This record gives sequence, structure tokens and C-alpha cells, in this order.
Amino acid sequence: MNRFEIDQQAMTQAARFRRFSVIDKRHENGIICSFLLKPEDPDDWCTFQAGQFLSLKIRRGEDRPILRNYSVSSDPATVGTYRITVKRENAPRPNVPDGLGSSYLHDEVQIGSSLEITGPRGHFYLDETSNRPLLLLSGGVGLTPMVSMLHVAARQKDRPIWFIHACRDGAAHALADEVQAVAATNPNITCHTVYQNPTNEDRLAARFQSEGFIDRACLKALLPPADYECYLCGPPPFMQAVYDMLRGLDIPNENIAYEFFGPATVLDKKSA
Ligand SMILES: Cc1cc2nc3c(=O)[nH]c(=O)nc-3n(C[C@H](O)[C@H](O)[C@H](O)COP(=O)(O)OP(=O)(O)OC[C@H]3O[C@@H](n4cnc5c(N)ncnc54)[C@H](O)[C@@H]3O)c2cc1C
Repeated sequence: MNRFEIDQQAMTQAARFRRFSVIDKRHENGIICSFLLKPEDPDDWCTFQAGQFLSLKIRRGEDRPILRNYSVSSDPATVGTYRITVKRENAPRPNVPDGLGSSYLHDEVQIGSSLEITGPRGHFYLDETSNRPLLLLSGGVGLTPMVSMLHVAARQKDRPIWFIHACRDGAAHALADEVQAVAATNPNITCHTVYQNPTNEDRLAARFQSEGFIDRACLKALLPPADYECYLCGPPPFMQAVYDMLRGLDIPNENIAYEFFGPATVLDKKSA
């Protein structure tokens, strides 16, 4: 089979729901949990591009099934399993339910549970053929596709890479050890972590490099002028702010790819 036929087969395979078992469940912190998924039929695993997502059909009791998307956070080179990393979306106020899909995954799904998934799919994925300086920028649980991309990019030995992540504090910081371990494999990777409200413990452990929000001065100091390829994922206000900063640093719109975890929107207001 040639590459085109392999890709076609993977797309056909990915388009239908298949059953996967949860073979590991790991609490990354108090709000984020990772699930390692393995197909019940080994032939149901398909290759994927770093950045793509799975769709889960979630059946909660007698209710109608709901569909939720989760980016694959694992390395595409790890054949046979997918990892997803899910933030529990708690109710924003009393008398409102917690997020249906994420609370089900956190509270009900255990090692041995069976889930129905389609994918991986999606157009937000790392261009592995490019060797341009790479900027992976994430906020909160938006780091999930970036971690997968980092694994792949780290194998491109002559590509400068910046992995910039913003989150509330050390207790909300997921996959930090994994990111450090990948970064240690390649001297061209610069990691920069921004905590909005670091705790004393975070300060003592030197878990972050900047405090507050990512701002233009921080990006300007970190990023020498270059023809960057940028990937963004995070909450909408973060995305808009960071997109505007990158544009302010003369990075063209076409060099900035982004994924929304909620309803999609356009960050370039001029083209909207
Ligand atoms: C391409 C893509 C990739 C994604 N990847 C990831 C990922 O890797 N990790 C991840 O964690 N998420 C990811 N998401 C987001 C994920 O798909 C879900 O949207 C998220 O988990 C929330 O779903 P939920 O069912 O838990 O919440 P929902 O049930 O959709 O509720 C959302 C929020 O609304 C609140 N709410 C419910 N009812 C009301 C009401 N009446 N009034 C006010 N508020 C209310 C809930 O408490 C909750 O906080 C991704 C999304 C997309 C599109």
C-alpha cells in the first residue's frame, strides 16, 4: 500500500465509532485527569497527526448519548493507544449542573471502562514537513494538543522550538514533568511557564518563569525575530490576547494556527 492508500484507510477507519478500553486513569492534578485508551480490536487503532482530536460518545444512564471532543495528548509514535487529558468543568454557580461529559469521565469512568470513540481527526495539527522556528503556546487544558506536537517536534533536531504555557498555578499545571522530560532530549527546545497566581510553594520549587498574564514584553524578550510557525490553544480570552500580541510582533495571520475547545470563532477580526 502506498502512503495515500494508508491515509485513506486510516480516515475510513477513524470515521466510525469503535470501542476502546480505559487501560489507565491518572490524576494529573485536582482538576485534570488523563485516560489511556486501547482499542478492544487491535486493528481499530489508526495513526494520527499531533494535534488531532477524538470524539467520544458518552452514555450517561438513560439519557441520550452526548458527543464530546478531546485532543490526543500522547505522542503519535506510541502505537496502539491514545491518551486524552480532560479538565473537569465544574458548575460555575449553584443550581447549575457540572459539565456533563467531563464530570462523567472524571467520576464514573475507571480502568476497565469501555468507551465509544471516532477519530482521530481535525485540521489543527503540526506540519511535520516544516523546519521553521516553532511556537507552541497554550493556556490551561489547551496544552493537550501542544504536548503531542512537542513530542513530534522534539525529534526534529535542528528546529528551534518554544513551548510556552500559561495556567493558574502549580496545582493546575498538567503534564509538567513530561514536558520537561521531552525538552531535556533536545537543546533547541525552550520551555517557559507563566503562572497567573503562583503560591509560595510554586515559588520555592521554581516551577514557573513569569508571573501574571503572558504579555507582549514577555513574548518579545523570549522570541528573537524569525519566521515563526505558531500553534495556539486555550480559553477564548487567552487566545484573543495572545493572537493580538503575535500579530503585534509582526507574525502574519497565515503563520498562526489555532484550535478552540468551545465554539469556534475567528481571531483575525479584520477577516471575520
Ligand atoms: C477540538 C476540541 C478538542 C478539545 N480537547 C479537549 C481536551 O483535550 N481536554 C479538555 O478538557 N477539553 C477539551 N475540549 C473541550 C471538551 O470537548 C468539552 O467541551 C469540555 O470537556 C466540557 O464538556 P462538558 O460536557 O464537561 O461540559 P458541558 O456539559 O458542555 O458544560 C459546559 C459548562 O457549562 C456549565 N453549565 C451547564 N449548564 C449550565 C447552565 N444552565 N448555565 C450556566 N452554565 C452551565 C457546566 O457546569 C460546565 O462548566 C475540546 C473541545 C474541542 C472542540
